[in-house]
Amino acid sequence: MSNSHNQLLYIETVGCQMNVLDSELVVAALREGGYELTESMYDADTVLFNTCSVREHAEHKIYSQLGRLKYSKRKRPDKVIGVFGCMAQKDQELIFQRAPHVDMVVGTGQLAEIPRLVSEARRDRNKALAVSLARTGGSRDEVVSSFESYDPLRDPTMRPSPFQAYVRIMIGCDKFCTYCVVPTTRGPEQSRPPSQILTEVGVLAGQGVREVTLLGQTVNSYSHVEDGRTFRLADVLELIHDTEGIERIKFVTNFPRDMDARLLEAVRDLPKVGRYLHVPAQSGSDTVLERMKRGYTVGEYREMMSRINEIIPGCAVSSDFIVGFCGETDEDFEASRRLVEECRFKNSFIFKYSPRSGTKADERLVDDVPEAVKRERNARLLDVQTAICEEDNAEFIGLTADVLVEGPSKMALKQMKQQPAVTPHPVPGVELSEDAAAEVVSLETPGSAGTDVTSDPVSGPIQLVGRTDCDRIVVFDGNPRLAGSLATISVDDCTATTLIGRIVTREVQHAAVVELPVV
Ligand code: SAM
Ligand code: SF4
Repeated sequence: MSNSHNQLLYIETVGCQMNVLDSELVVAALREGGYELTESMYDADTVLFNTCSVREHAEHKIYSQLGRLKYSKRKRPDKVIGVFGCMAQKDQELIFQRAPHVDMVVGTGQLAEIPRLVSEARRDRNKALAVSLARTGGSRDEVVSSFESYDPLRDPTMRPSPFQAYVRIMIGCDKFCTYCVVPTTRGPEQSRPPSQILTEVGVLAGQGVREVTLLGQTVNSYSHVEDGRTFRLADVLELIHDTEGIERIKFVTNFPRDMDARLLEAVRDLPKVGRYLHVPAQSGSDTVLERMKRGYTVGEYREMMSRINEIIPGCAVSSDFIVGFCGETDEDFEASRRLVEECRFKNSFIFKYSPRSGTKADERLVDDVPEAVKRERNARLLDVQTAICEEDNAEFIGLTADVLVEGPSKMALKQMKQQPAVTPHPVPGVELSEDAAAEVVSLETPGSAGTDVTSDPVSGPIQLVGRTDCDRIVVFDGNPRLAGSLATISVDDCTATTLIGRIVTREVQHAAVVELPVV
């Protein structure tokens, strides 16, 4: 379809990988209906916000953006403004009250409705609210079916890179940690049939994807009965492992209590599965873990770490921590600091506790740690983690690492923007919550959001970025055509977040089978 004026779509995504994937699916469906993406929410005819409710900060951002659109909507009443995802499911009517110029509010379970609702909003100028049942709003089966999983079309251009794709293997969560809105906003835990997962991975490989990341809020709790057999995550890894074209498989996020030996053995024995596990501890204090209702003790978390180190030597482990949770004392915080030092995480995402309405912690506990103390504990834990990252990264200097090349680094992209030999196509409006700099230690990709490196040849090497199978970020100079292939890098230097090296082998490009220049 042609790009007529009333079909410009602006989409902004906040939150986790699950949201990035949801946006990919929504954009694919709207593109089918003739929409084209724009990077300006003011020029767009349809503006969609894919939202996060995990912390208050993420919600504020969306309400500020909505505020900015008030006058734009007044000037152009046919502009359709929609809010979808977790905040939509959580706030529902409240969004219309706080931002009366919003046309549609769509929960995480109704994303398939978006194309129809956008057309109806434009045609009828009615407000639409499409959300799932509350967790107590019906029988489990009724609530489950109101959170229908949405996995139809996919849009490769919305991916972080053309060679990497997310695959949802579970939706929802039944763990009910006392601080967390996810069981409410994403609904009951449901695992997807393994045969569907295998088909989707095959399709992605056919599109040129080299690395898949399996997604679930507690991905290692995966359990699905198909043809009389119970499949766990280890079985899914085995099932998809031999898919032609797939070089690397990752999975996030793991729940400590469900990290069993069988899964660890699968990670050890399946060469394409990265030796990297994200297993959030949240706190190093038993009293805090108890108040969070995490269902394990610090001792059990330590035992899990020993099991990981014993079964998969050299495996990288990363974690999440919440600082300043209700009642957290200096001693409790010290216990978290000790756990970080002892476990030497590859990285940790550190969050200040943010009370969320509808959670048990908000109803029953007092948010009694002052903001200044939360901020100070956040900074201190971050310092400890950063020192570990620097020391551990330095251990790689002088070694070689196999890296899956993602594309140009952030620095290269910046330079390319100044001299546009390559036109980067960054994914419009994708902002992962982990980037909230002051709150988080995020060893994020300094790289390749949505850049089509295959179509715009560049003369000469530029700085590229990739990851080792332990998920360490590596930058090195090379030809952009290396994107999507495995390269061996000799590490010469490092920072806390990044290994810096150079290519030491001749690589054969996956599709074209041409030898690539050695830098
Ligand atoms: N399912 C994952 C797990 O259990 O580890 C995490 C999902 S949650 C979207 C990502 C992280 O946000 C959590 O691990 C936790 O550290 C943080 N988080 C969740 N609720 C929070 C809150 N109310 N305040 C601060 N951080 C929070
Ligand atoms: Fe939230 Fe806990 Fe479920 Fe993770 S396991 S999504 S923190 S309730």
